[in-house]
Amino acid sequence: MNTSIIKCPTCNAKTMIDNKTLKCENNHSFDLAKQGYINLLINKGSKTKIHGDSKEMLNARKLILEKGYYQTISNNLNNIINSFGKNNRIIDIGSGVGYYLDNLEKSNQKNEYYGIDISKDGIKEASKANKAISYIVGTNNQLPFLDNSADIIYSIFSPINIDECVRVLKGKGHLITVSPNQNHLGELKKLVYEVIIEKDYLVNDIVYEGIKKVDSIIIKEEITLNDFDLYQLFMMTPHYFKTPIIVKDKIKNIEKMTLTIDVVVNVYQYLL
Ligand SMILES: [Zn+2]
Repeated sequence: MNTSIIKCPTCNAKTMIDNKTLKCENNHSFDLAKQGYINLLINKGSKTKIHGDSKEMLNARKLILEKGYYQTISNNLNNIINSFGKNNRIIDIGSGVGYYLDNLEKSNQKNEYYGIDISKDGIKEASKANKAISYIVGTNNQLPFLDNSADIIYSIFSPINIDECVRVLKGKGHLITVSPNQNHLGELKKLVYEVIIEKDYLVNDIVYEGIKKVDSIIIKEEITLNDFDLYQLFMMTPHYFKTPIIVKDKIKNIEKMTLTIDVVVNVYQYLL
């Protein structure tokens, strides 16, 4: 666990590791889990409703990612980030089971990597798989990172809090977002929804003082899945919960299907 940019969630002071405990100078302490991650959700014991992916969704996501169906997104992300050189401090917001961050770390071990997700199960899986990455259970609305500390922040399909990203980014640092484009998994969406509502798939650019879009690429690829994998992929999408059982059964019985991957990668720079 690297703590160079991790702040104390209670008092915002710098932190360090002391005997498997994350500590700040004001003696707030948080124990490291045996898998090596740290839980910095302050309200973790309360009844506050905390959203995260279900175990079922998480397993489906892990299977689909490990089989490489989204590898083209991972490769493109690695190319963009590695073009910024080395010695960068990089944060994956909504790191999930750690697929993209793990691939990125393996492609460039000269950076410092942090993954944050509200799902403890996801973070647990991710930190078991790669000890070179510092994994944190936390929320994107209160990032447990110091001001002006990160060179690169990215999010793949996860919501970000732009105020928090700007606070944590260094001047000239980069923010990268990967979002679904118009035809992303369109074949599946057509089965689920009779009419696809246009506003569902419009990618909105980030408009924020000091944040400038410096690059934008579209990744488009077709993937073919058999019945089992198709249903697993369906389960990892937000469409799954909105789908009536009759349509779920229909999808379960499809033997093979080709789906379009269509995503937009936007690269922004913080110029203040
Ligand atoms: Zn503290």
